[in-house]
Amino acid sequence: MKRIVAIGECMGELSETGTAGLLAMGFAGDTLNTAWYLRHLLPKDWQIDYLTAVGTDAMSARMLSFLDGEGIGTSYIRRIADKTIGLYYIQLKDGERSFAYWRSDSAAKRLADDPLVLERALAGARLAYVSGISFAILPETSRNTLMEALTVFRAGGGKVVFDPNLRPRLWETAEIMCQWITRVAGISDLCLPSYDDEATWFGDDGPDETAKRYRSAGAVQVVVKNGADPVIATSARGVESFSIEAASSVVDTTAAGDSFNAGYLSAILSGRPLSDAISAGAALANRVIAQRGALVASAFG
Ligand code: ADP
Repeated sequence: MKRIVAIGECMGELSETGTAGLLAMGFAGDTLNTAWYLRHLLPKDWQIDYLTAVGTDAMSARMLSFLDGEGIGTSYIRRIADKTIGLYYIQLKDGERSFAYWRSDSAAKRLADDPLVLERALAGARLAYVSGISFAILPETSRNTLMEALTVFRAGGGKVVFDPNLRPRLWETAEIMCQWITRVAGISDLCLPSYDDEATWFGDDGPDETAKRYRSAGAVQVVVKNGADPVIATSARGVESFSIEAASSVVDTTAAGDSFNAGYLSAILSGRPLSDAISAGAALANRVIAQRGALVASAFG
């Protein structure tokens, strides 16, 4: 069985329904979003597992049944008594979205407490998918545990795919964030940053600089997303630029990067060349940003 393990935090998502006093409940989170898109894109001979931690309460059970229903494997999800899942609420004010979070004590912070759970989950997998957020939410010792597990996984032939997804508010300081992001990039086979965040926090003067910085940190390959602008990718030929199709409509850019990553990865895993994979990532992101929400089922026609 070909298997991918996505690692991180899935949260409950509360959004307005248009009816006063009535909110809709969904589930989302960066690595989960990518796992969900990968499940839709890859054939069934690929197993997509999600590794996180949840509580033993009813809300956690609801998340697990959502994941089961979506065809995402839950066998490696730890259940921790007295904890529950994180939540966020999408505020809409004059058409602008902002987010309020309740995640500071979520069960997911404990996802890497036990090295044996990580070892078991990664054993025999082809690919591990992590983001900067997967690391940001963890206590320092667990960051080291996850780093060690990924290093061992790689030494055994597994591939590590990493989206830095810079979220300074989740880290102790911006400096600690940049140090950890650089460390994790150093053990990645594919690093998928978004240029605007990188320019802000690493001071890169252009996406090609982002690509070169992560290559110097040790990433085997780097693909830099840059909104509507060309995607920059490293290859045997150096650093190349790939124009992408313009979006016909931009309604909500939530999960643009997460869906791009899934479109790109599924194409690469199906043996398609770099330029096709970038087009596939951009085409999926295009369909996702034309609709509201992180998980856009209509993106698959
Ligand atoms: P993130 O959502 O992680 O900040 P980006 O904004 O760089 O990432 O967008 C990720 C991908 O989504 C881009 O590489 C592109 O394919 C697509 N995308 C995002 N915004 C636009 C846009 N305005 N027009 C066309 N494609 C876009």
